[in-house]
Amino acid sequence: MSEQLSEIENFYREAFQIINGKAPTPEIKVKFYPYIGINHTIRLREKKVFVRLAEVCRDLPLAAQRALAFILVAKLFRKKVSPQASEIYRASINNQDLRERVTANKRARGRKIITTAAGEFYDLREIFRHLNQIYFDGKISEPVLSWSAQKTFRILGHHDSAHETIVVSRSLDSKRVPKYVVEFVVFHEMLHIFHPTIHRNGRRYNHTPAFRRDEQQFAYFEEAESWIETNLKNLKRDVRNEKRKMENRR
Ligand SMILES: [Zn+2]
Repeated sequence: MSEQLSEIENFYREAFQIINGKAPTPEIKVKFYPYIGINHTIRLREKKVFVRLAEVCRDLPLAAQRALAFILVAKLFRKKVSPQASEIYRASINNQDLRERVTANKRARGRKIITTAAGEFYDLREIFRHLNQIYFDGKISEPVLSWSAQKTFRILGHHDSAHETIVVSRSLDSKRVPKYVVEFVVFHEMLHIFHPTIHRNGRRYNHTPAFRRDEQQFAYFEEAESWIETNLKNLKRDVRNEKRKMENRR
């Protein structure tokens, strides 16, 4: 890990000790993340803290990183943010150079698709490469792989041949979802590349008998289908409850 990141992680430890008192300091993981703007997130999961800092803020002075640590940890515990921390942080992001970089990012977003193949739990690129080796002899050329922006439940995966893209529902990027389920969804979409749509008499055929036969070659075909059938409703309910909880807190 870079020295900068371990220094930043120390700030979070310090902030936890000061803000959260005697409670044991959780394990802390900080990384820079290619958010478009100046966004940062902090999450507590299973006694681990995940911090994602906007990539554009990589060059902030350490004093500002420290102030930001105190701001984010205070927010995590819904405590009042110290005015000094706010001031130090705000002054540091108010520089022209940073503003210009954010503007450039926003402009670039219009041109290129910003994709996130690496989720919180599963990396779609890693899954794709693994499946490609096992089932396709490495012959499928890698499309753009991305988690969807929204947690959708009706559609778990989508292949867009015009844009050479496979999108997987972010609802599956969860520790509650077994890896073979994510693999199965990616595998299904890869089969759409392997079996291109057939146009016959003005109709489109996607899931041809050959497609369905190949789909059953997946080692955990039955497990994955039955997991989706029995668990998707629960997953959806949990996400809805989480959302409701978040809204009530605001
Ligand atoms: Zn399909």
